[in-house]
Amino acid sequence: MSHPTKPARRSLRCDLFLGLSLVVALAVSLGLTVAPADARVADRDLYAAGARSADGPAAGKRLSGRIVVLDPGHQLGNHNFPDQINRLVPAGGFKKACNTTGTATDGGYPEATFTFEVSRLLRKRLEAAGADVIMTRKTNSEKRWGPCINVRGRAGNKAGPDHTGADLKISIHGDGNIGGGPGFHVIAPTDRKPWTHDIYKPSRRLAKVVRHKLHQGAHLPYAGYIAGGDGLDFRSDLGTLNLSDIPTVMVEMGNMRSAADAHRMTTVKGRKVYARALFRAIRAYLA
Ligand SMILES: [Zn+2]
Repeated sequence: MSHPTKPARRSLRCDLFLGLSLVVALAVSLGLTVAPADARVADRDLYAAGARSADGPAAGKRLSGRIVVLDPGHQLGNHNFPDQINRLVPAGGFKKACNTTGTATDGGYPEATFTFEVSRLLRKRLEAAGADVIMTRKTNSEKRWGPCINVRGRAGNKAGPDHTGADLKISIHGDGNIGGGPGFHVIAPTDRKPWTHDIYKPSRRLAKVVRHKLHQGAHLPYAGYIAGGDGLDFRSDLGTLNLSDIPTVMVEMGNMRSAADAHRMTTVKGRKVYARALFRAIRAYLA
């Protein structure tokens, strides 16, 4: 288990983009024609694509009234608080450590930062579609720890005007398997009375929708090193799943120790791929 120190620097691509934007802004202010002749056509195509696309403006507030819980894995500062995160807490009929440090890429980009950034992108999409989003942590800080798995597991259970709970919860993680190669896998709870008996069936359906949108939708490979290589795992030992009263899955979005996945996970463009696929999965599940 690595102990990451700080998030990656802003990417070179981002700096290049800013530089290019400045050049364009300067050219516009000088009255130069910088747009290609077919710019209006391109704009119209973009609008048409948006109107056709289920992600576009025509999709409206399709998720109005829906409540989604996003659980961005481990807090960045967990490794600074060993006593707190090793404390045993209820995990669904047994006890388990409050939290762990999480993993990181070989370059030191922490899982905590990855999951937080993907969650923020996903939250933005969900809110634009009208959903209410509950985040299990609102910061990504070296000075904070937690939240414990029992808090994360129960998050959203009593949400909503009637306290009947949120519509679903997704716990977002990055895996750390050395030599295992790239790929994601989705984890759903098994049927464990009384803990998950009420939610294991809808959770399995949610898991299959998430797997479909990540694999067929976003062309991400299944992790080959776990769960028979089909991208779908069922576990009874995770407090985050066991204590939920709402349909829930945990997603190991990729293997941070694989160079191919690390590249995707450490770029904004790559994280948008994950967020978009999860958004489409949530929307499909709630349709
Ligand atoms: Zn994790």
